Amino acid sequence: MATGDIAVARSVDALRQAVASWRKRRERIGLVPTMGAIHAGHLALVHAARGGCERVVASLFVNPKQFAPTEDFAAYPRSEATDLAAFQSAGVDLVFTPTVAEMYPPGFATSVEIGGVSEGLDGAHRPGHFAGVATVVAKLLLQCLPDAAYFGEKDYQQLTVVRRLARDLDIPVRIEGVATVREADGLALSSRNAYLSPEERRTAPLLYRVLCDSAAALSHDPEAVAAALERGIARLSAGGFAVDYLELRDAAALTPLPRLVGEARLLVAARISRTRLIDNVPVAAG
Ligand code: AMP
Repeated sequence: MATGDIAVARSVDALRQAVASWRKRRERIGLVPTMGAIHAGHLALVHAARGGCERVVASLFVNPKQFAPTEDFAAYPRSEATDLAAFQSAGVDLVFTPTVAEMYPPGFATSVEIGGVSEGLDGAHRPGHFAGVATVVAKLLLQCLPDAAYFGEKDYQQLTVVRRLARDLDIPVRIEGVATVREADGLALSSRNAYLSPEERRTAPLLYRVLCDSAAALSHDPEAVAAALERGIARLSAGGFAVDYLELRDAAALTPLPRLVGEARLLVAARISRTRLIDNVPVAAG
């Protein structure tokens, strides 16, 4: 079914029909899962998918299962017409935008729980979040059966959880991570940036500055992890953030690192007023 000029599938059947016709022609299929409110970060995923596949499916679904009851599911920005136009300009072939009832029909009773990489960080601060993410991503991968699926490094723990999910459940898909797209002042693009007041928006880039400065300090002194993290948290607090965590983790296993070794990732979550922002950077031993 077409809306404007871009093809839109609202049911799993319609998605599978489109994908089957491409498969017959041996075209490779890339999937880009999103919750909409499309920005240049999402479009970087589309661009990567277009680079690796003949056909690109973008999904647009605000997944209720990954929001806690206290979180912003109802208020989450929804803008279907604008999103479809953005996907169309970026070269998406099909937008899959199911209803909640299509994804979770009455009687739906399955939850995909990933241990290890889901624990700590956002897993500790957002109970149930990664089970909601893993459940919807498992469904999307099995509904579409793409060759590759594209996820942003912006949500680094999510990317790691999705890699684990595909590996553990033998879902035959390549999971591709895409570098974070930022504003000129360093703030990572996010649909939730729309919640920031002008004053909060001026505060927000401190998050990335602290990540970069802390990463540089850690590279310089790999043993002084606790001190570098304490300084970073103090700077964020002084700048107006309420910090949920600032942590150094192994880049692949996400285990905590008391000293900097191998490939590491520095991850942060902090709130300005009621808006919660997350970000992360790689850290290399100097
Ligand atoms: P969301 O719509 O927020 O669930 O995000 C959909 C996908 O876009 C996820 O894989 C995100 O990691 C990715 N994404 C969101 N923001 C960015 C960004 N600034 N740069 C790169 N990818 C992003």
